Amino acid sequence: MNKVKIPLIDLNAQYKSIKKEVDIAIRRVLDSTCFILGPEVEAFEKEIAHYCRVKFAVGVGSGTDALLLALMAYDIGPGDEVLTVPFTFTATVEAIILRGAKPVFIDIDLKSYNIDVKKIEEKITSKTKAIIPVHLYGQPAEMDSILKIAKKYKLKIIEDAAQAIGARYSGLIAKEKGKGKGQGKGNKEERVGAMGDIGCLSFFPSKNLGGYGDGGMILTNNKKIAVKIKMLHQHGSMKKYKHTLVGCNSRLDALQAAVLRVKLKNLNKWIDKRIEIAKMYNSLLKETGVILPIADRGVKHVYNQYTIRVKNRDKVKRLLAEEGIATAIHYPLPLHLQKAFKFLGYKKGDFPQSEQAAKEVLSLPMCPELNKLQVKLVSETIKKKVRVLDKKG
Ligand SMILES: *Cc1c(COP(=O)(O)O)cnc(C)c1O
Repeated sequence: MNKVKIPLIDLNAQYKSIKKEVDIAIRRVLDSTCFILGPEVEAFEKEIAHYCRVKFAVGVGSGTDALLLALMAYDIGPGDEVLTVPFTFTATVEAIILRGAKPVFIDIDLKSYNIDVKKIEEKITSKTKAIIPVHLYGQPAEMDSILKIAKKYKLKIIEDAAQAIGARYSGLIAKEKGKGKGQGKGNKEERVGAMGDIGCLSFFPSKNLGGYGDGGMILTNNKKIAVKIKMLHQHGSMKKYKHTLVGCNSRLDALQAAVLRVKLKNLNKWIDKRIEIAKMYNSLLKETGVILPIADRGVKHVYNQYTIRVKNRDKVKRLLAEEGIATAIHYPLPLHLQKAFKFLGYKKGDFPQSEQAAKEVLSLPMCPELNKLQVKLVSETIKKKVRVLDKKG
């Protein structure tokens, strides 16, 4: 392999830019020896709730656990069906299966890479309990339609916002919800993770708000559900050695909370940077024949990934690697074709849009620390390589 000149993300550069504050925060936790729950976690939960415009936030062990606990909170399990997409990170589907429920897949829309809302209703049965829309790459799913369908069929919505903290959505729901949850009066933008019944966040290091280890958060406006999750995530208990529910151990680490509190203060600035970089890519790659990400009207895409689509994807990836440009594939095999989920009985051809995306997507270097010269170099290299491949046919 050639030496990587431009990495996919540069976590080291980010650490250097906030090192002083992060080091102080970590030392504060070490000095307090309060490692499990406690003031750092509580403060961070409040700050995230405020940032995402929800009433309650509960820190948990990971984004995967957030999804699992969300399903536990609504007692979704054996005999129940949960609608989601096959084109997502595996955790979305794992959580459903670990609960003993059945994931029912709905294909994506190739324009947004998110759930194709036109295909949801035909998959609803008397067993359907919930929808898990994934805001893939940092772009909100079409929540207007999802909320409408959920209301009509009395389904819970669990947003997988692992890649999308800070993303926003403005649509008809803002008006409709006006009286409902005390949010979105008028035509205001809604925050991702705050539109469904529960929102799930991940603080995996490569997410837009990434910790220095695993971590996740559950968002909700429902007090009962918040209280239940507070119990479930620490052995079904509110009071030491009093166990009301069968829970698990899934808490956000105090060290992570302390680090993430520092990072949260920078998040909006970092998101703006990502959007700026995406705009640069968009203009530099305009006439190359590659398919650019579309941020639909009414959404604020936060570009956890800047993902293009290109024929000869694997070749393009290899040629870029030879020039020291790192890229990634999110995701190379849709979940309905994974060995682990074979028992669900799906086959090739069942979800053509997801299958095509898996063959053609390519995520380019994207992080707030990327500079203009690097974006230019990546774009120019793509231009050159794609042109060469086109000639060869
Ligand atoms: C990262 C991710 C998760 C899982 O989060 P972890 O914190 O790694 O457990 C779930 N869903 C999606 C879409 C993700 O990108």
